[in-house]
Amino acid sequence: MRSPTPVSEKSKSSRPEPPLPPALLIQRGGSSIHGSGVYARIAIPAAHVIVEYRGERITKAESKRREDARIARVRRGHDSCTYIFDLNQRHDLDARRGGNISRFINHSCEPNCRSELDRGHIWIIAERDIAPGEEITFDYGFAFRDWADNPCRCGTAGCVGFIVAENQRWRLRRLKRTAP
Ligand SMILES: [Zn+2]
Repeated sequence: MRSPTPVSEKSKSSRPEPPLPPALLIQRGGSSIHGSGVYARIAIPAAHVIVEYRGERITKAESKRREDARIARVRRGHDSCTYIFDLNQRHDLDARRGGNISRFINHSCEPNCRSELDRGHIWIIAERDIAPGEEITFDYGFAFRDWADNPCRCGTAGCVGFIVAENQRWRLRRLKRTAP
């Protein structure tokens, strides 16, 4: 499940109005990372709100049911993306239904965007200046416990090989060091 960073007071006050989706472009099946990807159509300045991550609001129980089914598909050898975001203690957001372009944004271990949770809404925000044509990415923030089911193909120098939240990757590195 994807997990956003709670909004910081600092970025809340400096946030501009979301001007875009026109800044974004989807390439179906065209990403070098995975399946479809989302690309910058124009230059996007750092700290810019790019798009809201939209989706169907579902209960934690329903979320677990869908995620378990997805993991089962992955273990049978199928390719399966998750579009579920952790929203609060009771609800999650599943972009498989009611989602917008943001659900096609890939994970990267060295992303150019971040996700932020602000009063029940998840925003994708530029972490740095992004050039036209660059693929948009953010850290999916997956829990460490699910690492084996979520290989990463982001291809960055800092890629740890699996989709794991940045603040939990040290566990993966430790695991690799101690592996036979
Ligand atoms: Zn990676």
